[in-house]
Amino acid sequence: MTISVKKNLVSEAKYALKCPNAMTAEYITIHNTANDASAANEISYMIENTSSTSFHFAVDDKEVRQGIPTNRNAWHTGDGKNGTGNRKSIGVEICYSKSGGPKYKAAEKLAIKFVAQLLKERGWGIDRVRKHQDWNGKYCPHRILSEGRWDEVKAAIETELKALGGKTTSKPGGTYTIKKGDALSVIAQKTGVSMATLQRLNGIKNPNLIKVGQVLKLTGSSTSSAKPSNKKTSYALPSGIYKVTSPMRKGDDVRRIQKALAALYFYPDKGAKNNGIDGVYGPKTANAVKRFQSIYGLVADGIYGPKTKAKIESKLK
Ligand SMILES: [Zn+2]
Repeated sequence: MTISVKKNLVSEAKYALKCPNAMTAEYITIHNTANDASAANEISYMIENTSSTSFHFAVDDKEVRQGIPTNRNAWHTGDGKNGTGNRKSIGVEICYSKSGGPKYKAAEKLAIKFVAQLLKERGWGIDRVRKHQDWNGKYCPHRILSEGRWDEVKAAIETELKALGGKTTSKPGGTYTIKKGDALSVIAQKTGVSMATLQRLNGIKNPNLIKVGQVLKLTGSSTSSAKPSNKKTSYALPSGIYKVTSPMRKGDDVRRIQKALAALYFYPDKGAKNNGIDGVYGPKTANAVKRFQSIYGLVADGIYGPKTKAKIESKLK
């Protein structure tokens, strides 16, 4: 049974403090909270406070909560600004470790299953699992260490992983099978592999067109069809801000925005005459901009400005 994750993600306004860097995760790091708070409380405290300390997931006896997207780094391993633990690993905190007892036991059990699920989703083996101590020597996960059970916990994760049909080792690189309801942006979140990388590795030109059951490569070299196409570059996108105004803005500059969006499969009006490329910045164009922004992690407001321009240009390369 899939363990669902309740999300209470940090606001983007706090990314600079909590998770400033984009991340393509390669490891999972296990912690004990050294606390007696629930997962919900650990996460809400973490995302609200003014300390940079952060972690992706907290697991208690009942549920898994998430506070940081897995495609952003978190500060949880004490190995510095550019440390592999901080920059390449997903942090999982196991709750109630201070006092231990049945609640802790249940939390650890759920965490073991959850970590196995994360590994399975990414096509990773048990070799991707680390304890906090591995990165900077800190005595964490303290309860697992003091009870001398690290090897036991790892073995339990491996057993769960096998039960899920996962691999024991990660080589030669992971895959992800697309499930019903998955958007490429969601897969990017789950796997910690950026959208651009997923598209490049798997030859996906249109992120809106992915099929359930399709197996995506998460690492390795590009498929032959993924070679950068040579459409584009000639759009000469305008600077400045474009949004729906009254009267609506018209001109060749708008047309260039529309053509660039269409080249990336975000048509103002697919099926309409010329796919809706009419040189008018109206609701349909704003909607295409919005879809583009949402897929590529920008504020989805339908307003074309410098950030959207830069992102469109990067995708046209
Ligand atoms: Zn720790």
